[in-house]
Amino acid sequence: MHIERRKFIGAGFMLAASGAMAGNASSAPTCLSDRQRTIRGKTYVAACPPVKASIPRTPGPQRVMVIGAHPDDADITCGCTAAKLIAKGARVKFVAVCNGDIGHHKLSRKETAATRRQETLNAAKVWGLDSYDIYGYGDAHVPNDFEARELVARKIQEFEPDIVITHRDCDYHVDHRTVGTLVKDCGYMLGCPHWIEGSKALRRRPLIILMRDDFTVPRIMRPDILIDCDPYIEKWCDALDCQVSQFYEWLPWDKGCEDEVAAIGDRTKNIAARNAYLKKYWAAKKLRDAARFADAWREQYPGKPLPKMLEAYEISEYGRPPIEEDFDLLMG
Ligand SMILES: [Zn+2]
Repeated sequence: MHIERRKFIGAGFMLAASGAMAGNASSAPTCLSDRQRTIRGKTYVAACPPVKASIPRTPGPQRVMVIGAHPDDADITCGCTAAKLIAKGARVKFVAVCNGDIGHHKLSRKETAATRRQETLNAAKVWGLDSYDIYGYGDAHVPNDFEARELVARKIQEFEPDIVITHRDCDYHVDHRTVGTLVKDCGYMLGCPHWIEGSKALRRRPLIILMRDDFTVPRIMRPDILIDCDPYIEKWCDALDCQVSQFYEWLPWDKGCEDEVAAIGDRTKNIAARNAYLKKYWAAKKLRDAARFADAWREQYPGKPLPKMLEAYEISEYGRPPIEEDFDLLMG
């Protein structure tokens, strides 16, 4: 019997069969469990069954649903990925499970939620999204219960995404962790017809991939999929610019960098200064990830120069296993 071992490569790791470890890279692993699939040399554990050729995907463009906690999470963390996928013809939907109502220091919660709703609509036009949906839980009030899980599941089942992107469940914010957990807990159940009466059980469950974070416990994220941000970073700035209450008011106040916003002057004229500010504060993680995941980049894109900025994702074990179509869409 083969024994699975973890093999570390650069910042990430892959599970490798003992045959490959012994130098016999061409021998396929033969003792995978029914929850393991090997693709592109890596073995992934998956809660959901693999895609069957006998169950075709819904016709039309590939669909990607980014389920964030707040009405800027998808933009900040996955915006360049969304821009790339939309440019390739995919349909992309952004979701904020919470309404963002504590994201301001002067506006009331009601005013903040209403302002942010309008700002996401403006951003959706810049991105070219199918829609930017806000489910309406108050910030830091989203529960990990059946009602919230049912809501998230129904929305996923309605859109029938090929890929869902969400938070890791060890991210910094309670809402991020809860939303990541909600999506994870929906994973297998999305295909069960009697779980939620009247819902549309999915024969092809989505691949779930997880946004980047810096946490080290229980372990650092695994950079399974890296996206070059450089061609899309100016569009990313244009979309963030729509969320005035966040990037020019609340977040600078929270960070204590309001003077840098004031120094931009008229941001509709001083685009270079505006973009430099947005990148300095809100793209710093993309810059850092290009350095920390450089080895993984060279592995995934042999011969391609390392971009200045990256968006990084880990393949979740709670969706279906990845297929070539997923890699072609995200990395092609
Ligand atoms: Zn957030």
